[in-house]
Formats: sequence, structure tokens, C-alpha cells
Amino acid sequence: MNKIPKIGCACEKPTSTYTEYRTSEIGIDHTNGRDAKVAIQQCKLCQRIWIYYFMKSENPQSDRWYKGIVTKKDRPNITPENAVEFLESLEWYVYGGSYFEDKIEFGEGKLNLDL
Ligand SMILES: [Zn+2]
Repeated sequence: MNKIPKIGCACEKPTSTYTEYRTSEIGIDHTNGRDAKVAIQQCKLCQRIWIYYFMKSENPQSDRWYKGIVTKKDRPNITPENAVEFLESLEWYVYGGSYFEDKIEFGEGKLNLDL
């Protein structure tokens, strides 16, 4: 497992005022009817690349997102379908959304994707 240092950049605690990133879409993960949006976000402050996984629910209280750092080398291997597996394999990721009462936290291991 690759060690991913936390460097205290704003991208690790992305509040609503954090807009310093470029997004490029990868696609939609339709696994189990999740229809989650998968994208790459590159932080303009530290240049690190994140996989961003956003699950929008019909219940507005259940929106949630996860994001984890990916190396330039691994980035081409990420598909909408394997993004969850990739995030779960990381030493840590960041998550938030209304499902988590809009708290932004570090997590590791399994993603909570129950609808
Ligand atoms: Zn950053």
C-alpha cells in the first residue's frame, strides 16, 4: 500500500469555500443502481490528483461523496466501476455530504454506499 502523506492542504478538508481545483469527469458508476458520478479533481494549491466519487440520492439527506488521492501512474487505470475498490484500498480518504450531516472526515476501508 502506498503511503499518502497528509500535508494540511485545503483539499483535505474541502469546505464549501474550497474551489481551487479542476474537475474532469470519468463517468457514472451504475453498480447496484447507485448512479454515482466519478471524476478527477486536481487541487490547484498542491497539484495532487483526487478521485471524487459522488452519490446523489433521491433522499436529499443521503447525498454523500468520497475522495482519495491517486498517483499520476494509477490514474489511467481508474474506471467508474473500479473507483470504489480503489478508494477502499487507500490508506485514507476524505468523505462528506448531507448523509454525514455535512461533516468532513477522514476515513479508511469500506465505503458506506447503502441507499
Ligand atoms: Zn491540495
